[in-house]
Amino acid sequence: MRASEARRRLPSVDALLRSEPGRRACEVLGRPLVKLAIREVLDELRAAAAGGVDPPAADDILARAFQLASGAANGLVPVINATGVILHTGLGRAPLPKEAAEAAARAATGYADLEVERATGRRGRRTARAELLLRALTGAEAALVVNNGAAGVLLALAALAKGKQVLVSRGELIEIGGEFRIPDIMGASGAKLVEVGTTNRTRPADFRNALSPRTGAILKVHPSNYRVVGFTATPSLADLVALGRKAGVPVLYDLGSGLLHRYPGLPADEPAADEALEQGADLVIFSGDKLLGGPQAGCVLGRAELVERLRRHPIARAVRVDVMQVAALERVLAAYARDGRTELPVWRMLREPPESVHRRAAALAEALDGELEGAHVVACRSTVGGGSLPGHEIPSYGVEVRVPDPPAMAARLRMGRPSVFCRVDERGVVFDLRTVPEERLPDLARAIQYALEGDELPDEEA
Ligand SMILES: *Cc1c(COP(=O)(O)O)cnc(C)c1O
Repeated sequence: MRASEARRRLPSVDALLRSEPGRRACEVLGRPLVKLAIREVLDELRAAAAGGVDPPAADDILARAFQLASGAANGLVPVINATGVILHTGLGRAPLPKEAAEAAARAATGYADLEVERATGRRGRRTARAELLLRALTGAEAALVVNNGAAGVLLALAALAKGKQVLVSRGELIEIGGEFRIPDIMGASGAKLVEVGTTNRTRPADFRNALSPRTGAILKVHPSNYRVVGFTATPSLADLVALGRKAGVPVLYDLGSGLLHRYPGLPADEPAADEALEQGADLVIFSGDKLLGGPQAGCVLGRAELVERLRRHPIARAVRVDVMQVAALERVLAAYARDGRTELPVWRMLREPPESVHRRAAALAEALDGELEGAHVVACRSTVGGGSLPGHEIPSYGVEVRVPDPPAMAARLRMGRPSVFCRVDERGVVFDLRTVPEERLPDLARAIQYALEGDELPDEEA
């Protein structure tokens, strides 16, 4: 079929809306949503037709539009994360402790003393409680909580270095997922990036030579999703602090992952917020939903005079946290304050001994055994993810299920109920049990069985 003819054969939006299934879809999902979904699907098919692809039947077009519209109407779908990636950005990063999620729901479904002092009735600050907790936990002179880590970096650069130069080591000009790139954030803040040293080696002397009266800040960035290995050097925080003090410019440290303290069992080169402050960083910035194990948030800690400049900057208002983030973050920080970090899901998953994960893997393999042979326990490695602890892998256990077409099986699992995300290798799919809590095991087993039913084994393997 010629492309122009294929395009002509596509039904109109109105015809589809008027059809019986179209009308029913409008009743269930609302006409504006169905109409837009049909338009989107037709646009896609028109583009495909231009490339010579025959258009599908009208029912098929409506089915696709219905899927698009109902996906939007139903909203987020909870999933079982069997990838073994603990801070999976695509799956929402840190799962909250129940107590924090409930505090967020309570605060959001009613009213709360978000920005009012109950004792006086006067206007308060929404982040005052979380900031007090952060100061208590890290010894910081002052603290500020904003919407996310990227907002914290943007705000710090805009408030302290707009129109001035900011020195960054070339080896730390990172990009992390979701379009966070240091040069772009720098540009948006109005500060001018000055790259110092080379990709693999930067020395304190390089920074010394780059300092000038136009320098507004020195920025150190934790390369949170990669490692430079081999012939490398980067100035220590202490080196930068010494240079900054001498030149009278603040040293900002984008920590990324949000480790409050150094805990045993973590890589020694993972920086902790309290140590960075102790070593003289003027501001440290980190995320709430990475290793901290809380909701999305950006925590900025450091010298009171600098924090106040950030607080007064107009961007601070534009990147403030909402009531649910506040409520959840307070609960998570309070858990740290009473030394209850290990109650947090992220830390439970990070610290669980492999033998304990093995028990869940064995239970899953056994639950599957009645249905299929070849579901077996395998040793695997979990990762922290979310741009934290790059290269750090945690010994774990999973269940491997051999299937003829692993990517197709993974797709069926994603679309199943409950939806399951797993790993794929050449032989089959692997479910890492480190990120699957005990109470989800029956659901996971059921989802796997359903997905397998759609997978016909070829004769030679049957
Ligand atoms: C994750 C990360 C950010 C961005 O934090 P978000 O909370 O995702 O906005 C910034 N810098 C570093 C080094 C990071 O790892």
